[in-house]
Amino acid sequence: MEAFLCPSLVQFQEVNFAYHSMDGETPVLSNISFSVREGEFLSMVGPSGCGKSTILSLIAGLLEPETGSIFFPKQEKTGVQANIGYMLQRDHLFEWRSVLRNVTLGLEIRKQKTKENVRKAEVLLEKYGLEKFMDAKPSQLSGGMRQRAALIRTLALNPELLLLDEPFSALDYQTRLSVGDDIGTIIRKEKKTAVLVTHDLAEAISLGTRVLVMSKRPTHILCDLPLDFDPEMTPLEKRNTGQFQQYFQQIWKELKRDET
Ligand code: ADP
Ligand code: MG
Repeated sequence: MEAFLCPSLVQFQEVNFAYHSMDGETPVLSNISFSVREGEFLSMVGPSGCGKSTILSLIAGLLEPETGSIFFPKQEKTGVQANIGYMLQRDHLFEWRSVLRNVTLGLEIRKQKTKENVRKAEVLLEKYGLEKFMDAKPSQLSGGMRQRAALIRTLALNPELLLLDEPFSALDYQTRLSVGDDIGTIIRKEKKTAVLVTHDLAEAISLGTRVLVMSKRPTHILCDLPLDFDPEMTPLEKRNTGQFQQYFQQIWKELKRDET
């Protein structure tokens, strides 16, 4: 409940969005309003093609709303652009660079590869079980380790807000469970604000502190559900609670009702 007292990092106000092409218009977002508060882990679920990735692109500034607005309250105050990190389904690690040099690539590109920042990246690799693999090539890592390395690369840039677009969907089911657990735990320990997009309901509930349930296109918000789990519980522990089952049923019903 604490999250409600925190300032918001991003606010969508009555955002409408459509893609335009030679074949015509694809209306995607219909009057979307919500905000992401500092410290929150917001999960977004909805049917495939409903516009979840589009929402992340709007947050990242890669797209602009047609009508309505997207505010970054802090940015309005300080004039400093929000530092946003993006993590995608494919990890985009480069095979010709070592794990450490992959993790510091973003720093290099931003010309922030100071000794101090590299040390921070090393500390993250040590803390999250990759210290022995710093000089390894990405192909020597398991799928789960690769995703951890990709997350650490994003964290090395010290983002205020992390955008995760189906980051586990390329993994097999078992790996997916444990990697989801890992990634969720790292984000919580590093006290990051995150928006996770997924079509996996169980993943949304076990990782999030709040779930936004999206309708099919043109998308509106079906329900906005704060999750009231013990914050010390791991994602896997949450999956074994009655509370989890209740949230699952509730969201499932909303999605089913929208389908018909
Ligand atoms: P989701 O991430 O929820 O699966 P997307 O945000 O990727 O959905 O896409 C929403 C809708 O917009 C889909 O119907 C998709 O086909 C369409 N779409 C996505 N990107 C483009 C584009 N660049 N041009 C035209 N249509 C697009
Ligand atoms: Mg998508």
